[in-house]
Amino acid sequence: MTATTPLAARLAEVQRRIEAACARVGRRPEEVTLVAVSKTHPADTVFEGATAGVRAFGENRAQEFVPKVLAFRDGAREQGLSGVEWHFIGHLQRNKVRDVLPYVDVLHSLDSERLVREIAARAPEARPGHHRLRCFIEVNIAGEAQKEGVQPSEVALLLEAARAAEVLDVRGLMTVAPRTTDPEAARPVFAALRALAAEHALPELSMGMTDDFEVAIEEGATVVRVGRALFGDRLG
Ligand SMILES: *Cc1c(COP(=O)(O)O)cnc(C)c1O
Repeated sequence: MTATTPLAARLAEVQRRIEAACARVGRRPEEVTLVAVSKTHPADTVFEGATAGVRAFGENRAQEFVPKVLAFRDGAREQGLSGVEWHFIGHLQRNKVRDVLPYVDVLHSLDSERLVREIAARAPEARPGHHRLRCFIEVNIAGEAQKEGVQPSEVALLLEAARAAEVLDVRGLMTVAPRTTDPEAARPVFAALRALAAEHALPELSMGMTDDFEVAIEEGATVVRVGRALFGDRLG
């Protein structure tokens, strides 16, 4: 595919880097899903991304997520674009569950039993006839003070609660590595998440962002969440 827009060129470059990281560790690129994190960027940018071939978008704020999905859907129908998935990657407040549920395909930030209960209560009305909501348990693997996510020791209980709720399909674990300028610094964090997921027999790992997605892939990421490398600096 020839890149016809700057975004298409950046997408091709990110895909090339994903393929190279896979090749270094003997993995197949199809094992890695690219979620394009479109937060702060307008629905027009999402169109451009979808036209260039992005199949999954990530958003982290309910107030931004819902209008953007709706705007995208309207235009997508006109332009014949289909098959786009929406991933919610930020902390989900319980009072936003009802708004977000109808539009989310994958939730990356399951982080409390209270959230499980709220989703279970709202899902029948908000997602009638839908499949279980695919989700990841977010883990604060590095133990940072102000980080979202449960402690590694809390995963077992949350997993049990999520399975009991029956409206959730827990696919794996998610983490955000501490910010540093050295991607190698994230490697032990990603390796620890992989070990924790294996302990709980969970097959998927959502880890790796613009600064560290190649290291994450080398450590087993099945989903990478990339914003700036695709869309440039965040707006606002
Ligand atoms: C913003 C965000 C990303 C993408 O970050 P970039 O550094 O722009 O790639 C990934 N995951 C989460 C949870 C985010 O909030």
